[in-house]
Amino acid sequence: MKKRHKALKVRIYPTLHQKTLIDKTLGSCRALYNMMLHERISFFEENKEDRKVVNGHKYKTEKEYKVEFAWMKEVDAVALQQSKADLSQAYSNFFTSLKGARRGQTVGFPKYKKRKTGSSYRSVVTNNNIRVDFEPKRIKLPKVGWVSFRDKRNSAEGRIKSVTVSRSPTGKYFASVLFETEGEEVEKKTVTDPKKVIGLDMTLGTFYVDHEGNTPGFTRNTQRYKTHLAQAQRRLSKKKKGSQNWYKAKHKVALVHETIANARADFNRKLATSLVTNYDAICIETLSLKGMSRALRLGKSVHDLGYAEFVAKLKQKAETTGTHVIQADQWFASSKLCNICGYKNSALRLHDRTWTCPNCGAEHSRDENAEKNLRTVGLDILALGEPSEPVESVLDVETSVPMQYSVKQEAHRSLLMGKSPESVPDVLPCQARGAHGHH
Ligand SMILES: [Zn+2]
Repeated sequence: MKKRHKALKVRIYPTLHQKTLIDKTLGSCRALYNMMLHERISFFEENKEDRKVVNGHKYKTEKEYKVEFAWMKEVDAVALQQSKADLSQAYSNFFTSLKGARRGQTVGFPKYKKRKTGSSYRSVVTNNNIRVDFEPKRIKLPKVGWVSFRDKRNSAEGRIKSVTVSRSPTGKYFASVLFETEGEEVEKKTVTDPKKVIGLDMTLGTFYVDHEGNTPGFTRNTQRYKTHLAQAQRRLSKKKKGSQNWYKAKHKVALVHETIANARADFNRKLATSLVTNYDAICIETLSLKGMSRALRLGKSVHDLGYAEFVAKLKQKAETTGTHVIQADQWFASSKLCNICGYKNSALRLHDRTWTCPNCGAEHSRDENAEKNLRTVGLDILALGEPSEPVESVLDVETSVPMQYSVKQEAHRSLLMGKSPESVPDVLPCQARGAHGHH
């Protein structure tokens, strides 16, 4: 049995009184977070000479803060607890990142939360205090009570775990209710047809390219809304900061950003659904967006593509269909490795769109070649029954090993097509990989 979580995010329409209460909760959570952070920073500053004192110190609990600041009692107590938990998490993220034990982007020291329109708080269910009715459509939020919502869906499966109440930068209110269901895990698809394996290489202009050179019909959202955004931003820049017209213009900018985000989410959802239905295995590249954007000085466009968001969506959808999603390590030199002979072209630069293999003379389009390599890694992992970590030895083939490479590929195909391994003499994938490792 496996626990599965699904969120139902809906726009809610609180009454004026409820709005005030939600706003107060958002404000209290932010205030508590900032006060607790301040307490920690000042205590550390005063006692940093003595590590024992710092480490053993008990900080004030949110209950003690509530005694001091009576206005906090008006709002959802669980939301305040979560705010405290968020701060602990921010600290622990910072420390693990400092030690280098954290994957992904470096996490800095916790920051004070600024007052802004876009904000959210989280509450966990206790004694049935979070509920969803579909007839009439209303959600019960702790302290706030029943709030009506609009949504096309008429049911949700599972037990309610928590709710995140948010106010968007455009001033709209949303509730995202987390449901938990228990069920048999969807069995992973058996991969027998290499045609049902796709590799996606993320590219800047077209989102991704697959091994046949296909790209999804993706128009970068910013291109489409670029003029709108530029216009709104230009208007904002001409207004006097803090004036009524400035706030209006700022709201317009937020609206355009919201439209862009919605269009992107919609695109990601449709694309992920179509991929998991049409393929048994999808091999994707893990990508450091930060590094890539720095390298290309195209930061904005890379982030607009929402690749990380797409990958998250893809994994989520894949779980429901049993599709394999295989992530090849980003250091897999997918662009630099010749997909025909395995030669590594270290001289390849990011702006080289095409290259000719110095070893076998094959002509490559950079992205298509990379994608073919990713797909090979995918086939490789599947043939061996999916190790939990991406295969690193395949990822750093330093020298050209034409013979082994082709034999290895042949072996994968045989395994995939159901031939017995004995019919592939001498070099099995695992041995071939071991051989690579020694180079
Ligand atoms: Zn080659």
